[in-house]
Amino acid sequence: MARDLASVWHPFTQHALWAGDDPLVIDRAEGVWLYDSDGARYLDGVSSLWVTVHGHREPAINEAIRAQLDRLDHATFLGLTHEPGIALAEALLAGAPSGLSRVFYAGDGASAVEAALKMAFQFAAQRGESRPLFLSVAEGYHGDTLGAVSVGGIGLFSDTYRPILLETRQIPSPGVGDGSPSQRAAASCAALAQVMEREGERVCAVIVEPMVQAAAGMLTHSADFLRGARRCAAAAGALLIADEVATGFGRTGRMWAVEHAEVAPDLLTCGKGLTGGYLPLSAVLATEEVYEAFLGSPSTGRTFFHGHTYTANPLACAAALANLTLMTERGTVARAAALGEQLAALLAPLAAEVSEIRRIGTMTGIDLGSHDPDRRVGARVCRVARDRGVWVRPLGDVVVLMPPLAIHDDELELLVDTVRDAVRQVRAEGAG
Ligand code: PMP
Repeated sequence: MARDLASVWHPFTQHALWAGDDPLVIDRAEGVWLYDSDGARYLDGVSSLWVTVHGHREPAINEAIRAQLDRLDHATFLGLTHEPGIALAEALLAGAPSGLSRVFYAGDGASAVEAALKMAFQFAAQRGESRPLFLSVAEGYHGDTLGAVSVGGIGLFSDTYRPILLETRQIPSPGVGDGSPSQRAAASCAALAQVMEREGERVCAVIVEPMVQAAAGMLTHSADFLRGARRCAAAAGALLIADEVATGFGRTGRMWAVEHAEVAPDLLTCGKGLTGGYLPLSAVLATEEVYEAFLGSPSTGRTFFHGHTYTANPLACAAALANLTLMTERGTVARAAALGEQLAALLAPLAAEVSEIRRIGTMTGIDLGSHDPDRRVGARVCRVARDRGVWVRPLGDVVVLMPPLAIHDDELELLVDTVRDAVRQVRAEGAG
């Protein structure tokens, strides 16, 4: 830790508090367990920030990466292609929502969002339309690059940068406010329709987190919102971008969250669970209509001038391909749906003791509802859980549970029991 403190700057971390939080040094992992440098083990209750699918060091994924390493480490995707990149695109499209037929690779979730935003803007421009506006949702989170921050709706992450962000219009979140979920969805859709009425001709895309605004604290909403957003975007001639970076690959109990609403987006971004939690890789899935708008001779300027040095890194593609193969072989999505039901049953006794428990599939937020950041109630619950061998991470006052989809029943029970006891302990200490 002394060497870390002397040299490292961590993401999303207030370093004035970092050392005081007594961070763990993770040394190895296996299955759903993380082991620290003292040999103590912690159940990985948030899938290492929502990425782990089949568990850590899953033999089949390890083997796929090793085999790829012995064949091709890396070759650029700019001007060359390779088998893992092609095979992964095929596998992704085989299970993609209807209408999506092209895969554009990126590195992290934010870089997929960035590519999707630029695609949407350029798509309109190439049809002779000037559409400089993005329409986004309050409480949304799409990553930390400037384009992604522009369409984010969490002030903590975007207010500082407001003077240097893109022009956007924001509608109220369907996940907060008064009324039933369907009333809130209707109110958000009405706001969306109003913006479109005024400025629809200038909007190139509507970007949404389908079914759940994850980083805002697992704010779930009605599928009606997604259907309304789909209709409104199409009517205004704007694209619908479904950001499935958090929700993709089974987390909501379906392969893609848009399946809950039977909605087909024009662009879909994914990342996180794509490689099973092994390596940074993300993608934008696009319709043929969008793809074809980028075809033309060089002089037309229709090329998508966007990409990264490590685009479609073969090791990452091999890991992702192994992950998707295992998901099919093991029925991981069905297992995720069943896990969600188990989580619901296990958490039911806690519901009366906290402000709210929100969940879709395995994506769970236990809202402690203190609304006083300085009390760090969420962090305190997570610390008590950690001392009892479970690693979870809060989003403010919301304790997030998002176990690896391969978690066993007894491990799931341990996760919930430990977090429940931690909530009760912190409450008893008078912090809640
Ligand atoms: N979109 C969504 C919906 C996310 O939840 C996240 C990350 N939590 C991102 C984009 C950004 O992904 P990354 O951190 O990999 O850049």
